[in-house]
Amino acid sequence: MTIRTFFKNVFFQEILKALKLTFKHSFVKEVTLQYPHQKLQLPDAHRGALGLLYYDDGVERCVGCDLCQAACPSHCIRVVSGEDQENGVLRRFATEFYIDMTKCVFCGFCVEACPVNALGMTKLYEYSTANKRSLIFDKPRLYEVGKNYYNDAKAYLVAHNQEKADESAEAWRYRFPSFTKQ
Ligand code: SF4
Ligand code: SF4
Repeated sequence: MTIRTFFKNVFFQEILKALKLTFKHSFVKEVTLQYPHQKLQLPDAHRGALGLLYYDDGVERCVGCDLCQAACPSHCIRVVSGEDQENGVLRRFATEFYIDMTKCVFCGFCVEACPVNALGMTKLYEYSTANKRSLIFDKPRLYEVGKNYYNDAKAYLVAHNQEKADESAEAWRYRFPSFTKQ
């Protein structure tokens, strides 16, 4: 044993070093959150669970065009389209809509592809379950997410420059045309 090592051991130098470091860190701002009691403030551009949106008058925005399905790189969207005629106006809509959240990679391509901003990403991330099948979100569940997290979805669309936040939004928004059947 060298003299240097001997003194190191006698004066517990390593322990003193560790104590010094611990003391120094007691003055550093903590970064750890005590989840679930504390939660992170997520940015508006955050890509969480997808939701389907209604217009302000309660009409479903989705027109069942399948563009989101075509844009999805994970092939986890399935849209079944239908047509409806009310007061002589022909309207397209999705009769069924499924997103397999176990396959979704949260790329946001489906939201970008939608011509009527019917899809939005929310800040919802707490939907873990032991039942994998319940992670296939169907149309009612997607509209429920969209309804409960409407502000998140809207903020997402604004953050990604797909929708405006002010009054001009209504004029700026593209609405899929309805056709009068001949
Ligand atoms: S976020 Fe990406 S992977 Fe998920 S459903 Fe949309 S397009 Fe598919
Ligand atoms: S969510 Fe949008 S892109 Fe997908 S089917 Fe509906 S209207 Fe088309």
